[in-house]
Parts: sequence; C-alpha cells; structure tokens
Amino acid sequence: MTSLYVHIPFCLKRCIYCDFVSGIYDPRKADAYIDALDKEVLNIPEKTQISTLFIGGGTPTALSVHALSNMIRNVFSRFSFIGDYEATIEANPGTVDKDKFQAIRSSGINRVSIGIQSFDDDELSLLGRIHSSDEAEQAVRLARDAGFKNIGTDLIYGIPGQDILSWRKTLEKAVRLKPEHISTYELTVEKGTLLYEYLMFRPQSPPSPRGRGTGGGGNKFTMPDEDKIIEMYEHTIDYLTAEGYSHYEISNFSLPGYECKHNLNYWDRGEYYGIGLGAHSFMYGKRFHNTDNLEDYLKTISEGKSTVKETELITEEKALSEAIFLGLRKTGGINLESFSKRYRVNVLGRFEKEIKEFQEAGLLEITESECSYETTLRFTRKGLLLSNEVFARFI
Ligand code: SF4
Repeated sequence: MTSLYVHIPFCLKRCIYCDFVSGIYDPRKADAYIDALDKEVLNIPEKTQISTLFIGGGTPTALSVHALSNMIRNVFSRFSFIGDYEATIEANPGTVDKDKFQAIRSSGINRVSIGIQSFDDDELSLLGRIHSSDEAEQAVRLARDAGFKNIGTDLIYGIPGQDILSWRKTLEKAVRLKPEHISTYELTVEKGTLLYEYLMFRPQSPPSPRGRGTGGGGNKFTMPDEDKIIEMYEHTIDYLTAEGYSHYEISNFSLPGYECKHNLNYWDRGEYYGIGLGAHSFMYGKRFHNTDNLEDYLKTISEGKSTVKETELITEEKALSEAIFLGLRKTGGINLESFSKRYRVNVLGRFEKEIKEFQEAGLLEITESECSYETTLRFTRKGLLLSNEVFARFI
C-alpha cells in the first residue's frame, strides 16, 4: 500500500499553539506554490498505485476553489488510484462554503477532516482559531450536504482554562453531528509557538481579550493540571465508546469501518510519498523530507533540483523500534506472529526486560485470541494513559 501526502502551507491566521509548517495565505505565493507542486509530483513514478491521499496543512481550504480543484485533478490524473481509495482533505471551518465543498467532492476527494478543536467560543478565541462554534457546526452540515459520507472532526482538550464540563459539552456536540471519525488531541506546548511564549515569558498577558483564565483580569495563563488531563482523556474513551465509536488508536475513534486508512498506513510502517513544503516521505527503507523554507522550495523546483533536505537510511534496529512504538499506538496492538515474519525478530525475546517491566507495572499486556491463535502485545487502559513513558523506552 502506498500513500501520498500533499502539504498546503497557508493559513489565514496563526493559531497560538501551532508549530506546523505554515505561513499566512497570500494568493500570489499560493499560485506559485501550486505550480511548484504540479512539478514536484512529476518526480514520483507515474505507475505508482496510490491507496490513500491526504491533503493537509496548513489550511488546504484557504486556497481558492479554482486552485484547489486544479491541484486535486492534477494529482488524480498523474497516478492510478485503487478502487476503494481514501482521499482526505483537511478543512478549516472559517474557509469553507457550499461551493468549495461541492468542488472538492466532485474532484474525487471522498473524506474530509474538519478542524473544529472546540465547541466553546471562548476556547476557540483563546486558541486563535478563525471560526466560531456555530461555523464549525455549519461546516459539518455543509460537508454532509455536499455529499461527503466520511467526515472526521478534530478536537483538542487540555486548553488553558478548560474544565471537564466544557470538554464534555464539546464531545457531546461533536457526537450529535454524527461524524464517522473523531480525533481528540491533547494540547501540547511546543517551543517557538505563541502559547509557549505566553506560558514562559508573559504569564500575565492574555492572548485574547475573551480568553478565560488567561489574565484578562490579571489571572495567570495556566494549563489544566495532569489529573484534569487524565480525567478528560478517560472520559473521552468512556463516552465515545459508549456512543458506538471504536477507540482504535490512542487519540482516534471511528464508527466501524471508518478508521482513517491513511494514518493506519503510517502506524503500520507502510510506504508513503510526501510532496510540498516540509513534507516527509518513507520509501525504499529511507525516510526523507523536503525543505521547510518556502523561498528555497520554490527556487529549487524552478531550477529543476531536488527539494529533499535530509535523508535517513533506516537501520534494522531503527525499523524495529519504529515498528514497536507505531504499532503500539493502535489499541489492537502488535500481532506478534506477523511482526516476527516481517522483521524476523521475536519481540518478546528481544525486548524481554522492557516488556516484563511494563507488564508488571500494568501498562502492557499480552493477549491470546482463542479462535485465531494470535498473540498480541498491547497497551492496557492504564498503559494508554502513560503511553509516552512506554514509548520513551523503545525509541
Ligand atoms: S489552522 Fe492549523 S495549521 Fe493553520 S495555524 Fe491553525 S493549527 Fe496551524
């Protein structure tokens, strides 16, 4: 299975927590960028059969209908796609309308992932999002009306000032819209972001006049503590599974049959090409990525040179460690028989010490399936809460 990722590095405004490769949308730069993408795509062998396509960003839907449709059509005409391909586009509620969704759907995209993040207007404003809760809701309806039968919604918990009640409301509202897929990410503070700056250097400064607990009245800008984060995550699992969503990856939930195939390919260490600014690829046992400087990217493409900035040859040792920490992200865990066939390694023997330690601590478990005689290594519920500690030992 080969996947293709296309990066669109433009947004209308920078969110305070964002450390993705993206700058402010400028129509002229965007046009030059789309031309460059059309050229870069020619570097991928034409006969490549694509199973999944993911157009992410940035905000792909910041582009005009015309630019977006042309770019998508160009990708579809370049490659052959398998019959039941999955093609996703990320959409930001502040940048979509009926016509844009319809154009995207008719160009061959069959899945849309909507960045909602919260249904609380104060939280959205604090995060620097460009849309309101009502617009987020409207975006889901517009996507549905445009014919999308596979809609994902991205939500964030652990927002400064957020409490469990507000998170519950966001989840409930999301479920009422009946998306096929719900991703729930804990807000992390990355160096270089505005959020990091507020927390480290300007704890009294509000990022938004409407933000709660952000210093508008002199309060500190504080993140929810660890106990609250755990409570939110546990509630997410309990609530979404009770509503019929399958918890198939640490942060991801879907209705049966609607798991994101593109991301499953990443977690299975499948091959993928990435095109565009800062895009990563994993092909022929190598990981490589493009430059993340827009001027350099445009210049190298116009000169017909390679945009690859760094290449890493994956050693056997590295491949094993990747397979473990990526495989464990799936709640179904790692099928030990398939693993030993693919990597020619007995995981239980190779990582005996680590696995035993985590089993004793109640973080990992080995389960046997009665009907298929399959053995699986996976996280326990407690392990899911402390997954980063486990990953750190396998990296
Ligand atoms: S919309 Fe997404 S990519 Fe753009 S600034 Fe916000 S978080 Fe970053």
